[in-house]
Amino acid sequence: MEKIEDVLKKDSFNKEDIIRLLSLDQDESKMLYLRSKEIKEKYVGNKVYLRGLIEFSNICAKDCLYCGIRKSNDTYDRYNLQNEDILEAVKFAKEAKYGSVVLQSGELESPAFTERVETLVQQISDAFDPKLGITLSCGEQSEETYRRWKNAGADRYLLRIETSNEELYYRIHPRDPKHSFQNRLAALERLKKLGYQTGTGIMVGLPTQTIEDIADDILFMQKYDMDMCGIGPYIESENTPLAQDFENPMSLDDRFHLALKTISIIRIMMKDVNIAASTALQSIDKVGREKAINVAANIFMPNITPTENRKEYLLYDNKPCIDESASECQSCVIGRIALTGNEVAYDELGTSKHYERRMAKK
Ligand code: SAH
Ligand code: SF4
Repeated sequence: MEKIEDVLKKDSFNKEDIIRLLSLDQDESKMLYLRSKEIKEKYVGNKVYLRGLIEFSNICAKDCLYCGIRKSNDTYDRYNLQNEDILEAVKFAKEAKYGSVVLQSGELESPAFTERVETLVQQISDAFDPKLGITLSCGEQSEETYRRWKNAGADRYLLRIETSNEELYYRIHPRDPKHSFQNRLAALERLKKLGYQTGTGIMVGLPTQTIEDIADDILFMQKYDMDMCGIGPYIESENTPLAQDFENPMSLDDRFHLALKTISIIRIMMKDVNIAASTALQSIDKVGREKAINVAANIFMPNITPTENRKEYLLYDNKPCIDESASECQSCVIGRIALTGNEVAYDELGTSKHYERRMAKK
């Protein structure tokens, strides 16, 4: 068998290599992390870009079996922030010198929702000069809707495929047209075609998910030539069917380490993509996001959702930072990044270098 050192010297990994790397124990993983850190420094440097995250509504028409804010979960009050409150949060981000914001919500597909987000994006674009980067994460939408949001000023979009294994996809989603795997794929392609900086990702440690599945997911993200990747551990949300019906044999700690290995392999293979230090990492390990930055990630998303709404945007249990205010998150973030020895990028858009390269080729 090839030595790990030799596998890590390769420029690209095949499925077998990826499986090998995903199977490394904690001690052996150190070699993987060193290599990934080296690639990170070479291709994206040691700056960490900030995206103020606003979870603007927890109203969702879908019923993903893992998600705490799924339609059928009636344990939460539903909220929908007013545009003026969202603009207030964006103003905070601007003053804190975050170069961009992410607007995330449950998924609604309706003319009213399309228009609402369009107006909101337009208002943010008009209100700030120089412009902030605007990322949307509002689920699957028609080409027309994505186009309108882009014309209003949104330049990035996050839509995780969750898993690229269609069978597993239907184990974690209802098998109906509202939760179609093919539609999710088509939506990703639509976003790319429209010229968005496109991000996808997966949950790691889903019940019945195998190392082979994750290797396929990594190859999927490479094949789809994604600009941004968001990978987080799957964490049970108590009132959901997936948490209630499946005994998950993988410990949270193992999911955490598997997620770190996954982002490190992505960094080595995809080099100049933006990789987020996902919030879910921090629900398992208090310094989980710092660990991700240390080895591979270059994006940090401080939460700027008004504190009173955070308790109702619980996608999973033990979500961190739900009692903090935006300014508490701000000072915490700066300290956290400083601890990693990376540099905080203030007032920078943090455009994915991969995206710039992809566009230059066109
Ligand atoms: N409605 C949009 C955006 C909000 S959900 C969408 O679904 O795309 C954002 C992400 O939260 C999802 O893509 C999913 O990967 C993650 N998420 C949801 N429930 C989770 C859970 N139980 N554990 C970990 N991540 C979860
Ligand atoms: Fe809705 Fe997104 Fe949660 Fe699915 S993952 S239930 S689409 S918020």
